[in-house]
Formats: sequence, C-alpha cells, structure tokens
Amino acid sequence: MKTYLLPEQGRFFKANLHCHTTVSDGHLTPEEIKQLYMEHGYSIVAYTDHEVLIPHHKELSDKSFLALNAHELELKEHANGREGRECKRCHMCIIALEPDNVTQTCWHRSKYVWGNAKGYMDRVEFDENEPDYIREYTVENVNDAIRRAREAGYWVTYNHPVWSLEDPEQYMKYEGFNALEIYNHGCVVAGYDDYVPQIYDAFLRKGQRIFCVATDDNHNAHTEDSPHFDACGGFTMIKADRLDYRTITRAMEAGSFYASTGPLIHELWYEDGEVHIKCSPAARITANYGIIKAKVQYAEKAPLTEASFPVKSNDLYIRLTVTDAEGRNANTNAYYVADLLSGDAR
Ligand SMILES: [Zn+2]
Ligand SMILES: [Zn+2]
Repeated sequence: MKTYLLPEQGRFFKANLHCHTTVSDGHLTPEEIKQLYMEHGYSIVAYTDHEVLIPHHKELSDKSFLALNAHELELKEHANGREGRECKRCHMCIIALEPDNVTQTCWHRSKYVWGNAKGYMDRVEFDENEPDYIREYTVENVNDAIRRAREAGYWVTYNHPVWSLEDPEQYMKYEGFNALEIYNHGCVVAGYDDYVPQIYDAFLRKGQRIFCVATDDNHNAHTEDSPHFDACGGFTMIKADRLDYRTITRAMEAGSFYASTGPLIHELWYEDGEVHIKCSPAARITANYGIIKAKVQYAEKAPLTEASFPVKSNDLYIRLTVTDAEGRNANTNAYYVADLLSGDAR
C-alpha cells in the first residue's frame, strides 16, 4: 500500500516564506513584491518584515496570489556593552495560521523597532493587557518567544543561523520551531554559508520533528540583472487542494511541502519498505538516515528522474536530496522510520 509523503491530491504552489519590503528594510513595496514573484511563477509570499506585523492578505491576495501575514522577530545579544554586528542574535519568522489573527506576540511598545518599520508601529495590533516584552538573548527567552508565538496561532521558522553568528551550544537547545531554514538565499548571495542540512540533521537526531524550508529573505537592493539579486533563489513548494489562506497554512502544518533552490519533486511515497521519488532531471539523489548511513544514486547515461531507497527499522529517519547538474538542491522533509513502519507517516 502506498503512503503518500507528499499528498497524492492537489497541486504544488510555489512560495517564498521570508521576504522584506519597504515596510522594513526592503527596497520594493509589498505590491512590487507581488508583481515580481508572480512573474517568476510564485503563488505565495509571506510578508515577514522586521518587527512589525502589517497584514497584507486582504489588499494583495486574489485568486492567483496569496499574501501570508507575518513578521520577523529578533532576539539580540547586548552583552558587555556591545550591540553592533559582533553580537549574536536569533531570528525567527512568525506566520499567522489564520488570516484574521494578526495580534502581534512579544510586542514592546517602544523598543526594538527600527528603520522604516517605526513608521508602522501605530498600525500594530497587540494585547493591551500584556506587559512590554523584554527580549534578552538567552535560550530560555528564545524558547519562550517560540512558545508564545505557537500558542497564539503562528507558524514559526528558525532562520539563517550562520549569518546570526549563533553557536550550537545555544541553538541546539531551541525547541518548538515548526521549521528550519535549510537554505536562505539572501544570506548565501551575501556571502554567508546558510545552506545548513547538517544543522537540520542535528535537530532531527535530537528527536525534534521539524520541517525544512528554503527561502529568499530578499531585500531587493539589486535588480534582476545583478549577481547580487537576492530574490527567487530559495523556494518552498507547498502541495494543497487550492490557494486559500487556511488550506495553505494547514498544508504547512502538515509538512506537505519540500524546500528547493532549483530541482522539482513531483511525487514522494513509501511502499513495501522503500521510499520512492519522482523528480526533475537530477545528477544525483541522496538519502540520509540520521545514522552513519547514506545512499546515493548517481545519473549515468541520462539524468535521473526517479529513485527508490530502502528503509530499515534501525534507521532513524529518511530525508532525500535531489541535486541537479548545476549543483542546486531540493530537500524533502525528514520522515521518521518509526512512523513509516507503523503506517503513521504524514
Ligand atoms: Zn533575519
Ligand atoms: Zn529576514
């Protein structure tokens, strides 16, 4: 019997789940972002401007485009009088699961907001009864922010740990994220090594059942003809029945997506002890199992467009990476073997 790891029904919608506009430090307006991404085949953008949740869903969404309401939250180190670029920090994208839930969590009435976003502070909705939220950079406070955001109905991603100067001693204690940015295009274009499958594996080996997304984190300081163009490089393909706010966020909660910088995954299923994949032409397809075991299938005479990988009961999980001739990668989420063998895989 087939267990579909990406849903059998529905279609894929191309999404950028991390994006900046003129509301914070981006160079394009929210409308210009919509136009740019639609021209490149995207259907979904999460508007994750820094520190202020300004909802764009109602004004920008239509039958072929969905704007997700979101923002990016920072907890930053202020140790020993330092507060510049030498300081570690944790960034997370906080995406509203319901279109009408835009009450900002972890809000402070006067601190932390900077740049253009200051001009939008009076539009932020927050709970008047909540005291100002203090954001000292500690493991406990990061976990508290994640927990508050999840409890308030948001989907939370852990962003670009390399750019953020974060150390494993700190981030390996984070708990409760929905997903890790396995790839952040803006950081990679700017010279940071924020393609981090090894960090994804480290979280998974600890038993954290998180998903992985690829995002742009675009600021659009450069136009499309520049090598510094930071849009349309990392994307998440979400499979769902239709382009409706709650249908899409439910698919995100269920893990019905994969993360890519180029290759496409058409089908992914488990059947008779093997995981099967169908994809766009690939130079190799790799399976990682969470233990000292990996399997790679290489293209020989012709590019690969499908592969199968056996799963054994002593494997921890399986996740696949499709690599094309240009070295671009599509990463599936991880599927725990205990779930696959019990028929309980998502
Ligand atoms: Zn960030
Ligand atoms: Zn960002």
